[in-house]
Amino acid sequence: MKIIHHMPVRRKITLIIMLVSMVSLTLAVSAFLLTERSNARQFAANNLQTMAEIIAANSKAAILFRDNIAAEETLEFLHYQDHILAAIIYGPEFEPFAVYKRPGINIDMVAPSAQESKTLFWKDHVELVNSISHEGAHVGHIYLRSDFRLIHDQLSRYVIIALLVFFASLLISFLLSARMQRIITEPLQRLSEIARQITTEKNYSLRLQGESRDEVGNLLTDFNEMLNQIQLRDEELEVHRTALEDLVAQRTAALELTNSKLEAAKREAERIAERMEYHAHHDALTDLPNRPLLIDRIDIALSHAHREQTLAGMLFLDLDRFKLINDSLGHAIGDRLLRVVAQRLKNSIREDDTVARLGGDEFMVLLPTIEKTSDAGYIGKRIIDALNEPVTCDGYELNITTSIGVSIYPYDGKDTDTLIKNADISMYRAKSLGRNKLVYYTAEMNEESRKRLLLETDLRKALEKQELALLYQPIVDTRRKKIIGAEALILWNHPNLGMVHPAEFIQIAEDTGLIIPIGEWVIRSAFQKLREWHDAGHLDMRVAVNLSPTQLTRPGLVSIVEHAIDEFQINAYKVDFEITENVAMQNLDTVIVTLDKLKQLGISISLDDFGTGYSSLSHLHTLPVDTIKIGQSFVRNIPDCMGDMSIAQAIIAMANSLDLSVIAEGVENIKQMNFFRQQGIHVIQGHFFSKPLPVDELMEMLETRSTLFPLNVVN
Ligand code: C2E
Ligand code: MG
Ligand code: MG
Repeated sequence: MKIIHHMPVRRKITLIIMLVSMVSLTLAVSAFLLTERSNARQFAANNLQTMAEIIAANSKAAILFRDNIAAEETLEFLHYQDHILAAIIYGPEFEPFAVYKRPGINIDMVAPSAQESKTLFWKDHVELVNSISHEGAHVGHIYLRSDFRLIHDQLSRYVIIALLVFFASLLISFLLSARMQRIITEPLQRLSEIARQITTEKNYSLRLQGESRDEVGNLLTDFNEMLNQIQLRDEELEVHRTALEDLVAQRTAALELTNSKLEAAKREAERIAERMEYHAHHDALTDLPNRPLLIDRIDIALSHAHREQTLAGMLFLDLDRFKLINDSLGHAIGDRLLRVVAQRLKNSIREDDTVARLGGDEFMVLLPTIEKTSDAGYIGKRIIDALNEPVTCDGYELNITTSIGVSIYPYDGKDTDTLIKNADISMYRAKSLGRNKLVYYTAEMNEESRKRLLLETDLRKALEKQELALLYQPIVDTRRKKIIGAEALILWNHPNLGMVHPAEFIQIAEDTGLIIPIGEWVIRSAFQKLREWHDAGHLDMRVAVNLSPTQLTRPGLVSIVEHAIDEFQINAYKVDFEITENVAMQNLDTVIVTLDKLKQLGISISLDDFGTGYSSLSHLHTLPVDTIKIGQSFVRNIPDCMGDMSIAQAIIAMANSLDLSVIAEGVENIKQMNFFRQQGIHVIQGHFFSKPLPVDELMEMLETRSTLFPLNVVN
């Protein structure tokens, strides 16, 4: 059945026609052969019957007369009947009367069993038994045997002919059906081919030709109609497709444009990301690695040093007085200086080492592998020397120095934080030892640094917690035997540490910038007291206020002072601002401008602790200074130290020549006082007269003049 399903239609049609033909031909041939057989038998029976009747008629008399010979003669004519094999005439008692046998044929004499006539058909012969009667009376029987083979032969011929006709008909019907099926299948085949062609070529203009009005014709017409529809749709589709393609092309172009923009944006973003990544790890100003990158590298260096059992060194650098340069000459010059410093640092180290900027004027050098502790010192010294070369910036020749603290892995710490912290502590020690120095970390430094950190934290709140106070140290005119003024000296009443002296926290205030609010508070408090003294009638009283370098170099000081003068309605001519020599070192121009403005307000300027700093006489000449205060460091050893006495004398001579007033401070005894009086210096400050006092005590002293007691014992 499957084979039939897969057969082409034309084969199926042929097969159907063949099957139908075969069935009909078989039926026809079978009918014909059966009819012929029946006819042949009928004919044989009739023939035998006729012959029996003839023989009966002719032998009737011979039977009656028992004349065998006559009977046998009657049978003689059977010689001419080829198909008769035997004939026997029986008498009334079924006794054979006359016999005829075709020569060569051996037949048993069978006696007829009954009187009636009957015809028996055997395989190869036909037998007939017929009764012979005369005038109604039975006189005998006749037996005839006819050869049936002739009829068989004839029938066989018919069969052959029928088969020939059968096969010829089959062949003809095959040929005819093979030809005729084309009427049906050819259009279908064409349809199939066209359909296939349309499928492959997508050519919907193809059509099928056919005029028949039958189902196939209708099918072709419907197919063509369907093609018309498809073609129409296809054309519409084509229009849409073109429109769509145009749209897609436009969109693609737009997308490509957007894509290229996106690509560009992506590249830009990547570039920015790279830069951000770079900036995340590098200092923008100097291009040096920043703190996070440094920490990474230290971490790596430490694990390497740990594995290899080697030493690693860390140098913590802080430029000395950089803030002064920055504040006075401006950030642009400060920045340029930092870049030069960065370059010099890079030039001083090996490629494996890292120099990083931690911020401001702080740098750190990592030496990942050193053989001995002294290697770090050696490199540190090289850096100090490299920085000692003056830097020329915008016409300024700047002298920059650095203080370096050194910590060594594993002796001074096992982890990054500790090593950085300890290097930092050593750096502070280097600063306190006079700057431009390199100091190795020692365990004792930690306590000092911890204290400093504590002070720094507490100092931030000291002002608002009103822990700061001003003491006033009288300044005495020994000739007039009169307190002519007082220097405001700050003191910090720390809740746990007790009294903290300015030497211990002024530098911290400077470093942290807290000096600005603290300084303002000092100015306002001192001005307020001056107002009170004047109100109390001590109209000669002056007040001396210490100014730090930062206050002088940052803008805003003049307006703070103006406001305070206004607020307390004081006479500015009674105010002395004490500045240190160092303030004028690097930022001369700015300082001079500020000092000039202050002087225009009426304020006098004193140079505090003269001789202890890096004074340059030419600077002194250009500074708008009114008074020089000879520092306690020289006074201390007078009159025992000839050198100090000479310096003091030289300072006094110089001050005289420049027409500057002189105050001797730190005078503790009468000898010292006398020395200065002999030098013509009559304005004295020191423990000899009074320690710095709370403001009430000073007021009392002003009233009682008790502090002047020592003057009464001398002339
Ligand atoms: P300075 O301006 O030179 O102040 C004089 C210092 O010498 C004071 O120390 C004072 O107590 C001390 N002194 C005075 N007479 C004698 C004496 O006979 N013998 C001895 N041994 N010392 C004497 P103090 O109060 O510890 O102040 C130290 C420094 O702190 C000051 O030195 C000044 O530079 C600074 N300072 C004090 N108050 C302020 C302030 O309000 N602002 C700023 N910026 N600095 C201040
Ligand atoms: Mg002072
Ligand atoms: Mg002083």
